[in-house]
Amino acid sequence: MPAIHKLPEVLINQIAAGEVVERPASVLKELMENSLDAGSRAIEVALAQGGVKQLRITDDGCGIDRDDLALALERHATSKIASLEDLEAVGTMGFRGEALAAIASVARTKITSRATGAAHAWRVTERERDPVPAALNEGTVIEVEDLYYNTPARRKFLKSESTEFGHCDDVFRRVALARPDVGFQLSHNGRVSLRLAAGDAARRVREVLGDDFMANCRLVDVDSGGFRLSGFAALPAYARANRDAQFFYVNGRFVRDKLIQHALREAYADILHGARHPAFVLFLDMDPAGVDVNVHPAKTEVRFREGRAIHQFVFHGLTRALATPVQSASMSTTP
Ligand code: ADP
Ligand code: MG
Repeated sequence: MPAIHKLPEVLINQIAAGEVVERPASVLKELMENSLDAGSRAIEVALAQGGVKQLRITDDGCGIDRDDLALALERHATSKIASLEDLEAVGTMGFRGEALAAIASVARTKITSRATGAAHAWRVTERERDPVPAALNEGTVIEVEDLYYNTPARRKFLKSESTEFGHCDDVFRRVALARPDVGFQLSHNGRVSLRLAAGDAARRVREVLGDDFMANCRLVDVDSGGFRLSGFAALPAYARANRDAQFFYVNGRFVRDKLIQHALREAYADILHGARHPAFVLFLDMDPAGVDVNVHPAKTEVRFREGRAIHQFVFHGLTRALATPVQSASMSTTP
C-alpha cells in the first residue's frame, strides 16, 4: 500500500461536492440561500439547459467586500458563524462555508459583487482569484457554468434538460414559499417561467400552488410551549396522487423529517383515505437551540431535542386546524 499523504485541496473540494452539489438544483438551493442570508429583497435566477450549461443568480443583498471575495471560494470560510454558540443559535441558512468551494471545484464559477457602500464591484473566478474591477449595482451576481465539466463521471448522472430544470423549479418554489417578503424571478433558456412579487404569505402560496389549493385549504396558526405552527393545510378534496405539494419548514428551512411526516400523516389519517397524499405549506418555528440542522451538508434533515413534544404539537395543531368549520377558515384565507 502507498504511503499516507494529504489530498490536494481541489480534490478535497470535489469529494465534498459529491454531497453538496448533486445536480444543478442543489447548486441553485445553495446560491438562493446565500442571497437570502445576504438580506436580498429581489433575487433573479436565469438557467440555461436545465442549469447544466449556465446558472446565474443576481441579488441585491449586502454583497461581498473585495478582500473577502477570494476567501468566499475557499472551503470552511464563512461570515455566518464564528463559534459553537453561534452554530447552536444559527439563524442563517448557511454556516458550513462549503458550498461555493464545492461548486467552484466542479464548475466554472464567477462571482461579481459590490458590497454596500463600495465605489464599484469586483470579480473573481475559480481560476483567477485576484479581484478585478467590474461594473454592478450593489449586490452579487454568481455565474456557474458547465457543471461537472472536469468530472465526467459525475456528469453522466445528470438527467435530461427538462428533468434537471424540473428539479431547479422545485427548489425555486420551495425557497420562494418560505420568503413571501422577497421578490423572485426564474427564467429558463431566456424565457421567464415564474415571477413572484414580494407580498404576504397567502398571495405567495396562491401564486406557487394555485387557486385550487387556496380554495381547499385551512389556515393553520397555533402556538404553545415555545413552538409555533403556521401556514396552510389542504382539505381532502385537494389530496394528490404524489407528495409534490408537501412543504414543511423548520425555522424557515425546508426539511424532510420522518417524525414530522408521521405527525402529519396521523393528523390526516381520519379524513384522508386510500393512497392519496395531503398537501400543505407549514412552518414550524422554534428556538434554534432545540433543533440540530447540522446533520447533513444539504441540511434537509434535522434532529429535534424534544421529538415527542414536537410530534404532539404538530399533530394536535394540525388536527384542530383541519377540523375548523369551513366558514371561518375560508374567511381568513381570503386576501
Ligand atoms: P456559507 O453560506 O455556509 O457561509 P458559502 O460557501 O455558501 O458558505 O458562502 C461563503 C461566504 O460567501 C458566505 O459566508 C458569505 O459571506 C459569502 N457569500 C456567498 N454568497 C453571497 C451573496 N449572494 N451575497 C453576499 N455574500 C455572499
Ligand atoms: Mg451558503
